[in-house]
Amino acid sequence: MSVPTELIQRLGNVKKVTVLTGAGVSAESGVPTFRDAQTGLWAKYSPEELATPRAFRRNPRLVWEWYEWRRKLVADAQPNAAHFALAEMENIFAQFQLITQNVDGLHQRAGSRNVIELHGNIARTKCFEEGRVVSTWKETGDVPPKCPACGGPLRPDVVWFEEAVPEEKIALANEFSTSCDVFFSIGTSAMVYPAASLPLEALESGATLVEINPQSTPLSKKANFVLSGAAGLIVPELVNCLGD
Ligand code: NAD
Repeated sequence: MSVPTELIQRLGNVKKVTVLTGAGVSAESGVPTFRDAQTGLWAKYSPEELATPRAFRRNPRLVWEWYEWRRKLVADAQPNAAHFALAEMENIFAQFQLITQNVDGLHQRAGSRNVIELHGNIARTKCFEEGRVVSTWKETGDVPPKCPACGGPLRPDVVWFEEAVPEEKIALANEFSTSCDVFFSIGTSAMVYPAASLPLEALESGATLVEINPQSTPLSKKANFVLSGAAGLIVPELVNCLGD
């Protein structure tokens, strides 16, 4: 797929670019999206049944162990060409803001410095009861381990389904979405709110909306440009064209 010349010309004339990424950006690094069927041990569970506070209350061991497995998968994964190209885009535009729904930290590992992590980071742990971020705890054999301050169960510091994105993060993301010239929605199903409202807000505020995804999404009909294909191919191609 080649990047439309009209889009490259538009990007040559703008200062403020905001990008929203989702799980699809990390798919080529081997981190499964939530829409991919799960494999192996976890095949019988859907992420929607595991990534909720209700699931954790019902079976904290199961949810902790699933996250242990995901943490290892993410630690072993490497950033892909899309992550690297997005890190390069930070140097091209006067204002460039990356907003991600991913919890894997691969954008930062590829060199992106300025990232709003809407849904937290899987490498961090917090107390389920009090929300306090915890970096060390005693290995007592408890699964999940216990908070050293209150004894409550520990959980990953991510935003689960049915939980709210921290207000200050969504407010900042809104600000960058409503004030940009071009907004990219890359590798996201555009179905998980409030992140899914950011591209729509950008569009309403007059930004050019570009979607990069091999599948169509609820956003596809509204976007000014739909680049249909894998982020690992299209984003580097786009950055190449910008350098020409
Ligand atoms: P999603 O699983 O709902 O959708 C993934 C999207 O990526 C789909 O639209 C799919 O067509 C697209 N896609 C698949 N392969 C692609 C590729 N190579 N290039 C571009 N696009 C591709 O993911 P979501 O929209 O991010 O929302 C679900 C939630 O899942 C988020 O809250 C996120 O926190 C969480 N999640 C994160 C990770 C991660 O950190 N890597 C992984 C799975 C889920």
